[in-house]
Amino acid sequence: MYCAVVGCGLAGLGAAHALVKRGAKVVLFDLFPIGEKPGGVEAALLHPYPGKKGIRSRYAHDALNKSLALINLAEAALGRKVALRNGIIRKGWVPNESAHDLEPFEQDVLITSGVTVFLRAYLKGLFAAMPTCEFVQGKLENEDDFDQVLYALGSGFIPWNLSGVEYVKGQVLIVKEHRKEMRSIIGSGHISPLEEPGLAQIGATYEHIQDDQPNLEEAKKYLAPRINTFLPALDSWEIVDCRSCLRVCHQGSYLPIIKRISPQKVIFTGLGSRGLLYHALYGEYAAQELLASL
Ligand SMILES: Cc1cc2nc3c(=O)[nH]c(=O)nc-3n(C[C@H](O)[C@H](O)[C@H](O)COP(=O)(O)OP(=O)(O)OC[C@H]3O[C@@H](n4cnc5c(N)ncnc54)[C@H](O)[C@@H]3O)c2cc1C
Repeated sequence: MYCAVVGCGLAGLGAAHALVKRGAKVVLFDLFPIGEKPGGVEAALLHPYPGKKGIRSRYAHDALNKSLALINLAEAALGRKVALRNGIIRKGWVPNESAHDLEPFEQDVLITSGVTVFLRAYLKGLFAAMPTCEFVQGKLENEDDFDQVLYALGSGFIPWNLSGVEYVKGQVLIVKEHRKEMRSIIGSGHISPLEEPGLAQIGATYEHIQDDQPNLEEAKKYLAPRINTFLPALDSWEIVDCRSCLRVCHQGSYLPIIKRISPQKVIFTGLGSRGLLYHALYGEYAAQELLASL
């Protein structure tokens, strides 16, 4: 089976890995070099309790383990760490279930299975772990060169009507890191250490605005009341950059969308705020859908 995977974010590379594992020959396409446009975030959080209520997601532990396996592969291929495996602190949260990966941490909870992933490095490492995959920088010009095409464009333009999809803007501020503890914290937003020493990312993704341009004043106005509930006031941080991106959500569901739109084409999108958690598991489902046409 000769497959094109268009879009090399978490969705595209997660699916590509599953396709390669099943013996498909894969050519990857992206407008940017792999890892250069990492879904709007530098550091992303991987843990099984996403969302405001922190309810454990369906399939969460299976999904988490599959994502961790890909992170291990990426690190082996790159020869260096692409993630911090020291847990994630969840502020102001009383979990409504007992689980083996939750521990009291001062007044809060430590999700011991939580991992902070440096997305650029991870995506580059995952690509390096698939040496048989060819990469083409640019658009796919001729779909007919391939048996099957997977579109994993994130918020990239999708020329088909896909119902049940909505866009949510997220902005992150890159700040100089004051804390001694290099560990991610989730409150009504998040802070994560970046791979580059001395820098951290502060952000949240609940703006129902559809442009994807960074806007520092808007970001500060939006983030300040959230951040101030669990971190020193936003004004006290030295901000070095503001970045933004649209994340594509599946309306009314937190699970991604895999949809066959023609005998030759499948879409994989709607990873929402759980891209890391679901990209490996749903990447396998997407690969199964492509290969089902055999
Ligand atoms: C501020 C913010 C914070 C987030 N925090 C987290 C977090 O902590 N944990 C977590 O799990 N998730 C988080 N997310 C969500 C996560 O980033 C997304 O779920 C994930 O990036 C989506 O992956 P994707 O592959 O679907 O899309 P993308 O990462 O957007 O990848 C799509 C790719 O397609 C390419 N492309 C687009 N159009 C074309 C075209 N025509 N031809 C070729 N290539 C094209 C793009 O260049 C891009 O590389 C966050 C998102 C935001 C915005």
